[in-house]
Amino acid sequence: MHLKGGCSDKGSVDATNSLRRTYTGECRKTNCPECRGEVYFIRRNKGSVWIDPPLGPPWDRHECMDRAKIGYKAAANLTNSLRTDLPDNGKDRDYIFGVVIASEISEDRRRTLLTIAAGEPESLVVLVSGGADSFLEKFVRIDGAQSRLFSAGDKRIFLSIVGAATIPIGLKSSGEPMLELISFRRAKKAVQTEAQRIAIARGKLAIRYEREGLQASWSIGEFVQLLGVLGGSKKDELAQITALRILKHLMKTGDCSALAKLAVELSPDRRDRLKVWLKEYSPIKLSLDTQPIMARFNRHSERSFAIKEAAENPFYKMPK
Ligand SMILES: [Zn+2]
Repeated sequence: MHLKGGCSDKGSVDATNSLRRTYTGECRKTNCPECRGEVYFIRRNKGSVWIDPPLGPPWDRHECMDRAKIGYKAAANLTNSLRTDLPDNGKDRDYIFGVVIASEISEDRRRTLLTIAAGEPESLVVLVSGGADSFLEKFVRIDGAQSRLFSAGDKRIFLSIVGAATIPIGLKSSGEPMLELISFRRAKKAVQTEAQRIAIARGKLAIRYEREGLQASWSIGEFVQLLGVLGGSKKDELAQITALRILKHLMKTGDCSALAKLAVELSPDRRDRLKVWLKEYSPIKLSLDTQPIMARFNRHSERSFAIKEAAENPFYKMPK
């Protein structure tokens, strides 16, 4: 399956959080449009089929929809593949069946969060070991007692289930061997990307800023992170305070790296002005055309640190 383009009708990929979702996969309880009887409707990329309850062996096809709405062949193929792929001794073992409709994989590919349509109004959400994005749109069988999730297409392929973040009420009350419940927060955290972690950290800093203002004991690093969620004059003012703090700090330590990180959070206009400001009131040279942006002591500069002037003349008002 293509990661981008080509399969846009089948699903989507969000590069920032590695979430993949199908818009065609389904497994739900519904009523037959012809006879109004209770049926399960299953659809994935190989086709769709109506099944008489229960959602499990012997997988009896609900005949009156087969010929009416969809190609008979596609339906027959899906039912046959379900029949051959899945154990027919399901009566002595309670399995959960469903179609994977979303997968979210961790950057190290050690965990995947799978959202499974299992014939219930809510989805079953399980955290599994390993990188399982290839399970999207697959019909799966879940063995709660063994904490394993099997691909219906290949009985040899299975994943260990770490825990279930959401179990539909209907499945809970059906007496199936139950999966261990884990918190949704823990499950989401296991597949979070670095970008999401940063966004969440920034969100927390924004809340703290609203509550405490800048009176709290903020570190320089936290100031820089907070800049990412501020805008307008608030951002200018905080950037000025941060720049001054960094200057005072680096007079003692000589460490310029925080200035480069500060510059990254600013708009191109403000970066240019910061560069001018630093040149005016310090011996620091900010290089904006390097990748990444760099800040370093300019040994040829005749300037020394002029903190008082730097405080009186905010960088964002400097001419470019
Ligand atoms: Zn019917």
